[in-house]
Amino acid sequence: MTKQTSGTIKFYSGEQLPVELHKVRIVQKLFLKPIDERYAAIEKGGYNTFLLNTKDIFLDMLTDSGTNAMSDNQVASMLQADDAYAGSQSFYRMEAAAREVFGKQYVLPVHQGRAAENIISQVFIKKGQVIPMNYHFTTTKEHMELNGGKVLEIYTDEALKIKSDEPFKGNIDIDKLKAVFAEHGSDGVAFVRMEASTNLIGGQPFSMQNLRDVRAVCDENKSMLVLDASLIGENAYMIKQREEEYRNADVKDILNEMCSYAELVYFSSRKVSSTRGGAIVVNDEELYLKMRDLLVLFEGFLTYGGMSVREIEAMAVGLLETCDDTVISQSPSFVKYTVDSLDAAGIPVVTPAGALGCHIDAKGFLPHIPQRDYPAGALASALYIISGCRGMERGTISSVRNENGDDILADVELLRLAFPRRVFTLSQTMFVIDRVKWLYENRELVGGLEWVDEPPLLRFFLGKLKPKGDWPQKLIAKFKADFGDSL
Ligand SMILES: *Cc1c(COP(=O)(O)O)cnc(C)c1O
Repeated sequence: MTKQTSGTIKFYSGEQLPVELHKVRIVQKLFLKPIDERYAAIEKGGYNTFLLNTKDIFLDMLTDSGTNAMSDNQVASMLQADDAYAGSQSFYRMEAAAREVFGKQYVLPVHQGRAAENIISQVFIKKGQVIPMNYHFTTTKEHMELNGGKVLEIYTDEALKIKSDEPFKGNIDIDKLKAVFAEHGSDGVAFVRMEASTNLIGGQPFSMQNLRDVRAVCDENKSMLVLDASLIGENAYMIKQREEEYRNADVKDILNEMCSYAELVYFSSRKVSSTRGGAIVVNDEELYLKMRDLLVLFEGFLTYGGMSVREIEAMAVGLLETCDDTVISQSPSFVKYTVDSLDAAGIPVVTPAGALGCHIDAKGFLPHIPQRDYPAGALASALYIISGCRGMERGTISSVRNENGDDILADVELLRLAFPRRVFTLSQTMFVIDRVKWLYENRELVGGLEWVDEPPLLRFFLGKLKPKGDWPQKLIAKFKADFGDSL
């Protein structure tokens, strides 16, 4: 096999740049509207970027979920989809790909990642049990708690530090894991969960060594290890980049080895494979049989699981493409370029760069805004107004209230700028970096937010807020003074 280039390429100038290792063959028009129209749009959307219409957005960096670019081979495969309620050939092609990539025999398709979490939580969690993990994901935690479980986050001391050189901030603290078993006993622990590229704390990976150590503790305590593989491709890529032992390894071998340590692997294919849907994969027939009937009840027959057969075909191709360095390196190398550029300008971002997106530290960016006035939400609104770029608040707005009705302040206040796989070009990336730099220079103009309409459940999706004071007008006036008529 010829050696394939991945990640960055060295230029004659000495710079290392993340060159796109694909060409664009289908394009979609974007809308870079004047700042007054963007202001009207965020007012209408209640200062919640989830409530914007993409017709008012230039670069949509909300999420990598279901927004990734498919390859030519993925799109082509969709034409051969086999419509059948049961026994679809599309499913068997996807099953074969999943077996190859994850190294597990039984493949249970589901309509998306949280559907897998629903089934796993119903089957494997008994009321009062704890589930230790490196970090939670929003939907994971809700499903586990609905089924009477308690999430225990046992990350290392480095995990929540914004600025760090630790390459594996997604590791579990092994001593804390042992302590959980000592306190709760094997019966008190439903299972241990590892999330590849911990989504909510900056897409930070764990190391293979840490996964092996977690496996050893699970063995000692006869406990099951569950791997959330939604962002596994990037975690595998970063193991290759950062863990000496794997420098020359194939991504596919790394993926296989990661999965070999877990009895149960599940994923959202809205992320891994750049399609939609998801699956649970296991080797043990007994585990498979425990989940099979719930799958039919909640998702659909075993050979489609709530997915369209066209998506299943694209997933089969996309899973195999996850093993290609030139495919899987694209998003992390653009994230790294952005993080390194902002960090060099003194802007507080989560370092080292992880998977999924660039995470700006809103507490450090807007230190004058108290956490109860939602700095990450304010930063998301301000960046949208001045650039048309949409990010996602991952801070206290995404948290919940306690029984007294007070906000539970989030561990970290982040604005996430997601890099959907193979979607944005380098000049678009340079545009967003430029506008973040401008906003940082003018950060004192940004103020906080307060609720206008706050739903009781998952408020960050549908809630509406308003600015405290007239800071948006001041920000817009300064933007016009600096940029004139330019967008
Ligand atoms: C997105 C995600 C999920 C949930 O998947 P959906 O397809 O959105 O339901 C679960 N875990 C992680 C780590 C994720 O990133």
